[in-house]
Amino acid sequence: MSSVVERELVVIGAGVAGCTAALYAKRYGLDVVVLDKGAPGGQLMTVGRVENYPGFPDGITGIELAQRVHQQVQNHDVEMVTQQATSIEPHADGRWLVRTADGDYLAVAVIIATGVFPRSLQVPGEKELRGAGVSYCATCDGFFYRDQVVAVVGGGNTAVEEAMYLADICKKVYLIHRRDRLRADPHIGQQAIDREKIEILWRSVVEEIVGETEVESLRLRNTHTGGERLLAVDGVFISIGIIAQTDWLGGVVELEEGFIATDTNMQTGRPGIFAAGDIRNTPLRQVSTAIGDAALAAYSAYQYVALHRGQAYGEYREPEQAGGEQL
Ligand code: NAP
Repeated sequence: MSSVVERELVVIGAGVAGCTAALYAKRYGLDVVVLDKGAPGGQLMTVGRVENYPGFPDGITGIELAQRVHQQVQNHDVEMVTQQATSIEPHADGRWLVRTADGDYLAVAVIIATGVFPRSLQVPGEKELRGAGVSYCATCDGFFYRDQVVAVVGGGNTAVEEAMYLADICKKVYLIHRRDRLRADPHIGQQAIDREKIEILWRSVVEEIVGETEVESLRLRNTHTGGERLLAVDGVFISIGIIAQTDWLGGVVELEEGFIATDTNMQTGRPGIFAAGDIRNTPLRQVSTAIGDAALAAYSAYQYVALHRGQAYGEYREPEQAGGEQL
């Protein structure tokens, strides 16, 4: 039989939101553990330069910022475990059972900070050539295409920033967008439009990624004319948005448009379960918003745990009463 570990707070996800939540929780004196399925850092590990996070006037690379955050968490002796949470279930005594393949955790409060993953195009060749010319992260893989020809698919801020980054490395960058107007913020989009090495292919969609053992070309269709053509490229970076990792939650918390619904205190509809960062239904997904979410989620979790300290677990208050009381 697998073991059950008891903690006051389980934080799921060790990206910038999860790490920040754990840091705050530890400083509130909570008995906290952080679970992550892989190496800590999350999406920040795939971000090039972060230039809008205050305190770094010259910007900082995503990797360095992630490493610094992780180091800060370690300096506070936060317990971090490489385990993938597979479900959160209500326990009979009012706590939450966080299940993993290697054992379960019984927690008074849970903060979900599992972030997002890149959306895929779902076209022939994409899955087959992933890692052989198909990438979802220019910062991670751009280096392999030095002086080569690549394409970026998408028209949002991420796609434009990826194209700009690749233009520093590659011979030529096609930005393939399905509409005739970028979704990216105008000042970011304009940079791509002005950049000589970047050619924007408007009203174009990728129908197929072609190649035997590695990417050789893209079969494009013009959505206006319907015409098709093959575009020779050495690599393609797919940057068409994000999907929240919520399937494993099995409906334990309410979702809105695929992201976790919370109130302004990061409380989900279930007492004791909080969410922070990109997984949350939020209009802005930035390092600063993830950090703000996480600090508030930790504070709310602290209030919730403190409210129940000294009680027998079976005597937990009903959802409506929990969390509203000031300490
Ligand atoms: P996004 O803003 O949702 O943009 C996704 C892009 O992909 C859109 O242009 C969309 O086209 C296109 N797209 C979606 N599905 C497609 C498909 N099946 N085939 C072809 N194209 C498809 O996603 P994001 O760029 O990853 O950004 C995510 C969030 O992070 C946004 O809120 C963004 O502002 C933010 N962000 C901010 C910064 C910054 O401020 N520096 C940097 C990166 C990201 P349509 O335009 O036609 O819908």
